[in-house]
Amino acid sequence: MKGLVFDIKKFALHDGEGLRTTVFFKGCPLRCKWCQNPEGLDLKQRLWYFPNRCLHCNECIASCPRGALSEQSGHYHVKIDHVKCDLCGVCTEVCPTNALTFDSTYYSVEELVEEVVKDKIFYDVSGGGVTASGGDPVFQHKFVTQFLARCKAEGLHTTLESAMYTSREIIDALLPVVDNFIVDLKVFEEDDHIKWVGKSNRLIKENIEYLIGKGVNLLIRVPLIPGYTASQKNLAQIGQYIRSFGKDIPIELLNHNHFAHDKYEKMGIEYPVKNPSMQYSEEEMANFYTFLWEG
Ligand code: SF4
Ligand code: SF4
Repeated sequence: MKGLVFDIKKFALHDGEGLRTTVFFKGCPLRCKWCQNPEGLDLKQRLWYFPNRCLHCNECIASCPRGALSEQSGHYHVKIDHVKCDLCGVCTEVCPTNALTFDSTYYSVEELVEEVVKDKIFYDVSGGGVTASGGDPVFQHKFVTQFLARCKAEGLHTTLESAMYTSREIIDALLPVVDNFIVDLKVFEEDDHIKWVGKSNRLIKENIEYLIGKGVNLLIRVPLIPGYTASQKNLAQIGQYIRSFGKDIPIELLNHNHFAHDKYEKMGIEYPVKNPSMQYSEEEMANFYTFLWEG
């Protein structure tokens, strides 16, 4: 079995306790309008072109056995026909500057464990470990469950970051191999959730309640997206909901990622957030936390 990974971030500080290696798995069951990792949505490899690295040598165009590459004028010198491209990889091998490269890599469980275990010393001194993120790691749950089980066998602390839009069976398989759950609850109102995330949030809430009932280590996360999640009403509703369990469950607010729109440009998709470069100030973040805890 192979897992498809689109990024491995070493020395991550914000994906759980201590220094961590965060593995970003491809595939997600949700479609948030503001997705911060759009390259992680689909469970398939995609060929990427970086015009800034391109020498305009046309070696790739000559090498492609499917005629999927062509020359065009302007900054984007090479045009990819994704319908014709069968991901054979020939162009990525001939390109002298890695201007053509795949957006993700297939790993076996052992290859991925070998990669993350290299930094065990840093996890040990900082109280860190490995975080499975995405996309949403539940989309490749069989591989992720095996990978986290192997990490635990190596003595690594494990965290799963997910929206938990998944079945009870999959959660039950993950419970023994996950030390900490980080669950994203983005939008409280079901209608807004359907409109902005593409699915009802009932299953997500039921699974949060299931995890609370199981007594797991749980952190709720809310990404602050201008015009969508970052409203007093949404944060007050989420705060009241989580407090209603009376368990002192922590909630973390994530400031808007003002780099996300770059990825949309690279992929040729429009970023729907009106203020793409916006980052909230410390004062604004403090206000959002007040909405969360005081309504
Ligand atoms: S991956 Fe293969 S088929 Fe696709 S563009 Fe490159 S050479 Fe052509
Ligand atoms: S082989 Fe690489 S550098 Fe040369 S034209 Fe193609 S993408 Fe550009």
